Amino acid sequence: AEIPTAAISRLVTYLRILEQLEAQDVSRTSSSDLAERAGVSAFQVRKDLAYFGRFGTRGMGYTVAILKRELVRVLGLNQTWNVVIVGMGRLGQAIANYPGASDYQFQYAGLFDVSPAIVGQQIRNLTVRHMDDLKTFVAQNKVDMGFLAVPPDRAQDAAQALVSAGVRGILNFAPVVIQPPTEGGAQEISDEWRAVIIENVDFLAGMKRLAFYILNPHLKDAPLT
Ligand code: NAD
Repeated sequence: AEIPTAAISRLVTYLRILEQLEAQDVSRTSSSDLAERAGVSAFQVRKDLAYFGRFGTRGMGYTVAILKRELVRVLGLNQTWNVVIVGMGRLGQAIANYPGASDYQFQYAGLFDVSPAIVGQQIRNLTVRHMDDLKTFVAQNKVDMGFLAVPPDRAQDAAQALVSAGVRGILNFAPVVIQPPTEGGAQEISDEWRAVIIENVDFLAGMKRLAFYILNPHLKDAPLT
């Protein structure tokens, strides 16, 4: 069965709350406590967790450390994820320099660009490489994910390069919809594209949603998390 994207977003929020509780030496919590901190209903918390199993004892709530460990496992954050950033302009550099990614096992393995002004530069502890080297690099370094931070009109081609190189997921920051190519009228999506998960991070879209909901607050279904 499919699970709503919003439920996965909330799991990430619950995990963040559990980390905060653990940092405060709080050892037990409940669906109503998590719900209040996340700004959702206790029913919602129980329903979201129930997609993945039973983590508490009825009427007893949850052990923070255990629920946290289980959410880490469910989300796949207990394994190492090798990441490349494609497009090392303003955003790519900001992402590379942001320390939060290394809280879990996301490791920047390689940074890529095409501009002679940027290729060869040292950013963090990595040398920016040329896109011509992407495929070999992804294979040799077991790269799982690509963060796409190229200009919008380059995003489709750069996504194709990531897909051809064999990454399993793309986090697309460019404000465009990445489409599997349907060349020659063929409606079949190729196996390499079918295997790739694409997630979009679009802060411009967030601004537009925000404008709409400020004008239409009564139309909002759930608090932003
Ligand atoms: P930028 O122009 O500063 O950087 C883009 C980089 O991509 C450049 O270094 C360029 O050489 C490189 N590039 C171009 N074609 C490439 C290719 N085929 N392969 C690899 N690298 C390539 O742009 P930016 O401000 O960093 O924005 C990047 C993307 O993120 C854009 O799509 C933008 O709309 C989006 N975005 C930016 C921000 C922001 O705050 N800067 C916020 C949200 C979204």
